[in-house]
Amino acid sequence: MSDSDEEEEDYYQGKLTCSSCDETSMMRNVEDDVEEVVSLSEEEKLQRFTHDTTSALCLSCGEEMEACEFPWVKRFEHYRVGVVQSVEVFKKKYQALEIDVGAEEALKVVTTGKVAEGQRVIVACVGALVPAGAEPDDEGVIVVKKGSVGGKPSHGMLCDSPSLSWVGAKGVAAKISDIWPIGSIPPITKQRAVGAGGEYVGS
Ligand SMILES: [Zn+2]
Repeated sequence: MSDSDEEEEDYYQGKLTCSSCDETSMMRNVEDDVEEVVSLSEEEKLQRFTHDTTSALCLSCGEEMEACEFPWVKRFEHYRVGVVQSVEVFKKKYQALEIDVGAEEALKVVTTGKVAEGQRVIVACVGALVPAGAEPDDEGVIVVKKGSVGGKPSHGMLCDSPSLSWVGAKGVAAKISDIWPIGSIPPITKQRAVGAGGEYVGS
């Protein structure tokens, strides 16, 4: 087996399972897939397939999976990476935020999580099921709706790690690095910097 074959089978890092035969050897369904040889970090590889819109092909049974069927795409329907554009503190503990989530207008969100202007955050937008990956009839599931807090409009929910089904602290806005584009879905697992070397690990 050549290195390029291994790369193809490893493309989804074992995170994509064939819906037909349960094998995890899936490759991108493209002809003449000549990729430039670049050295990517684990997080960059994750980002690459998380946002890929090319369907996948099972190497065992030939079943094709559309990108919209990928588990992370379903899980993070209505979830968006955004950047905090403005912060207004009111009634001491609340922050009224304007967040750029890649839409025409900034999204207004009220939170008690302490965030700062310029911070990259993840927002569960209207229609999202929280926590991510929950079924609509699961106990304690929240469906995000337009609402208001203290008279200020709130059209989304700032995500902490538990709301994303990530490992991490409750009530603290989940962090995400700059390689996750604004308006895109977040990674399926938490990515965090290890030391100053810029290495990332999933959790
Ligand atoms: Zn299969």
